[in-house]
Amino acid sequence: MVASTNPSEIAREVLRQLAVRRIPPTPDNYFTLYYEIAEQTPGDGLFPEKQCKDLLGALDRGRPAHSRLVRILEDAIRDKSWERFQGAWSNFLAEGGNEPPPWGELIAELMRQWETHHAGLTPGKKRDALDHVLGSTGKDPDLLYSRLRNLLTAWGQNSNGDDMELATQPPELAQAAATEKPEAAALPDSELTGELRELFAFALETAIATQLVENPKLAEEARSLAKSVRSAVSTKTLKKVLDALKQFAFRLELMADDQRELRTGLLHLLQLLIDNVNELVEDDQWLHGQIAVVRDIVARPLSLRAIDDAEQHIKEVIFKQSQLKHSLNEAKEALKDMLAGFVDHLADFADSTSDYHDKVETCAQRIATAKNITELRTVIDEVMRETRIIQLNAQRSRDELRVTQQRVRESEQRISELQVELDKASSLVRHDQLTGALNRHGLEEVFQKEAARTQRRRTPLSIAILDIDNFKKLNDSLGHDAGDAALVHLINVIKNTMRPTDLVARYGGEEFVIILPDTALDEATHALQRLQRELTKHYFMHDNQKLLITFSAGVTEYQAGEEQAQAIKRADGAMYEAKHTGKNRVVSA
Ligand code: GH3
Ligand code: MG
Ligand code: MG
Repeated sequence: MVASTNPSEIAREVLRQLAVRRIPPTPDNYFTLYYEIAEQTPGDGLFPEKQCKDLLGALDRGRPAHSRLVRILEDAIRDKSWERFQGAWSNFLAEGGNEPPPWGELIAELMRQWETHHAGLTPGKKRDALDHVLGSTGKDPDLLYSRLRNLLTAWGQNSNGDDMELATQPPELAQAAATEKPEAAALPDSELTGELRELFAFALETAIATQLVENPKLAEEARSLAKSVRSAVSTKTLKKVLDALKQFAFRLELMADDQRELRTGLLHLLQLLIDNVNELVEDDQWLHGQIAVVRDIVARPLSLRAIDDAEQHIKEVIFKQSQLKHSLNEAKEALKDMLAGFVDHLADFADSTSDYHDKVETCAQRIATAKNITELRTVIDEVMRETRIIQLNAQRSRDELRVTQQRVRESEQRISELQVELDKASSLVRHDQLTGALNRHGLEEVFQKEAARTQRRRTPLSIAILDIDNFKKLNDSLGHDAGDAALVHLINVIKNTMRPTDLVARYGGEEFVIILPDTALDEATHALQRLQRELTKHYFMHDNQKLLITFSAGVTEYQAGEEQAQAIKRADGAMYEAKHTGKNRVVSA
């Protein structure tokens, strides 16, 4: 019989069949028979949404297998797909979803694996892993079953070593990883896994790829791995990603090794150069000091600040050296000229004296053989003439030598003047010659760098300015040299008291600026107060007398974007307040 498509005819036939088959005429029976006679499934027209949802109530969402089924069924209901709804139930039942898992088999397997020897797994480690599984599954028997299964799989793989992913991890990690998997075939799609996966991909993309600017190929690989980590959903694809990650980590390690070697090589080269320069400049004390500083910086663990410092010191050395070389060349030229002139004069003198000797000898012979006075007179006239010539020659030579001597003296004077000038005011040199602290030029440079760093890292930066109290009195009573020694003493105490990252510059005669990176105002104020206390412990010694040096200081915190002058002006204002309210104080702005 061909099914009718006319609803009235179908309804009539349904009522007839209910009577014929003696089926009670309930709505459900009517509903079922209606679709039978129409030769349709309810999905074709009407999806029994409410009934299906009611069915879900029978499942226990706390159990992973049930909760997974609920999710699939809900999807099917939302899409009104009877086929998927039915399919999910069949699979669930075929997998024995509701059947109790085969615990007997599992326990037998557990006992077998317990007794088996696994490479790298001591009985203690096995016990720990088992404790972890037992303690992490709560009262959920399904979860306990699947985690135990995974643990046994991990142990099994550990013995034959055929699973790259787990075998290369430390056994405890492999066990832990295994115990986190609720099922072998599909990954748990819990929120935590999702978040961890995203975090890992993010780390690859940002933390790792951005560190690889010098190796774009490896950076690209990190980004592509991040994509794979995000999209790997099955155990199989994840295993592939893990293999690729292992290869990537290996290449990363090789690159790090190369870089380490390169750094060590460069440092050695630098040390060699420094030693070499040191030998070349044997007679310049200033350069020896500078080179010792560079050597010290290079010997410490490398940091950006240490490299900056080394660079600045080397620049100073190079500058000073080029100037010295220039002066030295000038001195050499002058000496050469003088010697050449001297030799010329000597030769002239020798020529004229040997000439003179010859002439005098001839004259002597002529005198001995002279027959009359007239003859004798001519000879004597000749001797007198020759003697006058030689006298004139000698005088000229002496005068010329005097001029040369004067020229050499002048040139020496110029060289030493140049030297003093150079030491005093070189725009390239950034350290103060007396105290070794940064000079104003050096301060400007480090300030720019620290201000940029602080804005980039959003860390605080403080600036202090300090001025020695009653320094004029000390100078007047003990003399300028004692004043100089007091300044050097103060700088030494500052350098020994402040942190290695703090920087000190000589701002004026007896005024110093201290830059305190990564330091907020409160901390900086405390640091300056600590410096005050240190000065009361470390006296300045002069002629076996203990002298107490005190200072007044103003401290301020750098405000993002402002100029050095603004910050220093604020600190200066606070310093003046300290002076006017009794000195030997630290005031914060
Ligand atoms: P106050 O407590 O108000 O700061 O008094 P003060 O005497 O320290 O201040 P003032 O500015 O009047 O004097 C500073 C003195 O420092 C004047 C100057 O002779 C001296 N001075 C500056 N530079 C040097 C230096 O390089 N060596 C020496 N020995 N003295 C210096
Ligand atoms: Mg002053
Ligand atoms: Mg002063």
